[in-house]
Amino acid sequence: MLNIILFGAPGTGKGTQSKNIILKYHLVHLSTGDIIREEISKCSPVGLIAKTYIDQGLLVPDSIIIKQLFYRASRFEKPNGFIFDGFPRTLNQAEILDKTLNKKGYPVSMVFYLDVSEEELFKRIMCRSLHSNRADDNEKIIHKRIEVYYKETQPIIKFYEKQNKLITIKGMDSVDIVSGLISEEIDKYIDKNNLLLY
Ligand code: AMP
Repeated sequence: MLNIILFGAPGTGKGTQSKNIILKYHLVHLSTGDIIREEISKCSPVGLIAKTYIDQGLLVPDSIIIKQLFYRASRFEKPNGFIFDGFPRTLNQAEILDKTLNKKGYPVSMVFYLDVSEEELFKRIMCRSLHSNRADDNEKIIHKRIEVYYKETQPIIKFYEKQNKLITIKGMDSVDIVSGLISEEIDKYIDKNNLLLY
């Protein structure tokens, strides 16, 4: 199995890159942001709780996110692998993901850190806000989301660095260039590990 984490601050292009990767390698896309937005649109109890956090630019509690993620993942039988987009976002989430996947014998394969300057992040999300219809894509909340990223999410980088799984990709380039760099690394990994994907 090929389990990939796309890691980076809000606005680094994780969603866009995920779409390219799933098309090429037929992986299952698990975006915790999308999962939560779906729950909110259904007005489910989980969605209603999560909305109170998202609307403030805060992280949804680990207990909710982890349960939702593993429930969605369990619906797929023998996929080529997963692409985790927006997860993990706390050290606790990273540790639980590792423990769960290791136990199943399908550990995290590689972690792509999309590195984009703070100024560019802000510009990108403001631009996205023109058509995204996302309540959290507004100036005040964007600042909070970026602040939360640096405080709670960025420390995860070291966790994967220690495992030699982190690959830093300069995310400032065009979508196609970034996509090409990611594919190159994935192809190398597939060759080296003799993975067979269908
Ligand atoms: P995203 O679409 O990935 O930018 O996520 C939008 C919002 O959903 C975030 O600002 C958080 O409030 C919430 N969220 C998404 N993924 C997670 C996660 N792994 N842990 C906690 N909250 C999350």
